Amino acid sequence: MTVTALAPLHDLPELVVDDLLFKVAPPRERKTIEIVVERDASLVLKAPPAVTVERATRFVNAKRQWVYRKLVEKDALSGPPIVKRFVEGEGFAYLGRSYRLTLKSEGTGVRLDRGRFHLPADQVDQGAKAMRRWYTEVGTQWLRKRIRPWAARLGEESVTVEVRDLGFRWGSARPHPGPQRINIHWATLQLPPSLIDYVLVHELAHLRELNHTPEFWSIVDRLMPNYHTQKTTLAAVGKNIWLGEGR
Ligand SMILES: [Zn+2]
Repeated sequence: MTVTALAPLHDLPELVVDDLLFKVAPPRERKTIEIVVERDASLVLKAPPAVTVERATRFVNAKRQWVYRKLVEKDALSGPPIVKRFVEGEGFAYLGRSYRLTLKSEGTGVRLDRGRFHLPADQVDQGAKAMRRWYTEVGTQWLRKRIRPWAARLGEESVTVEVRDLGFRWGSARPHPGPQRINIHWATLQLPPSLIDYVLVHELAHLRELNHTPEFWSIVDRLMPNYHTQKTTLAAVGKNIWLGEGR
């Protein structure tokens, strides 16, 4: 055993085990090591503060077949990234329905009006940015209303929703003392409402349980008894979601 093997895992930004590269998540109080396969098929290792490189490597080796299987699944789901063009007739989804883009000569920003997205012609160069801003603004209002009954079911008076770009994650949540907040990716607003509900429920459950433990899934199940269907559907339709790439 080398000296490196006994070093704390968290001294490293990344752990490489043969052909697998894991980003090491910042240390948090937790009892178990967990591997997370992200939507872009990148790997994250979450571990208690005291874990050594040697122990983490042994853990990864024991889980190797599981990791490969997950990576295969991810490949099946992640096609080429969706790229949008900001031209007349391009389709953009909102709440599970597709709307055509129309360019107009005036206006200050994106509008969804009479079944079409309207983009001022002079903003075509920053079309992606203008659309992201629209999803963020409109989505914030929509989600803050939508989350209320779910939050109430969890026993939370109020939970604030922030809409932002979260890379390859639909949402994120961390319990706080005081008012609770969850973050939702602006791209989530392209999904049908029933799937957005699943994302909300998933993040709400993280306010009670940080990790994907059996307790976590039982909270999800209590809030949304049909969640298995939503979870599978989300994984399948996720690949068709536009994440902001334009040309
Ligand atoms: Zn989660």
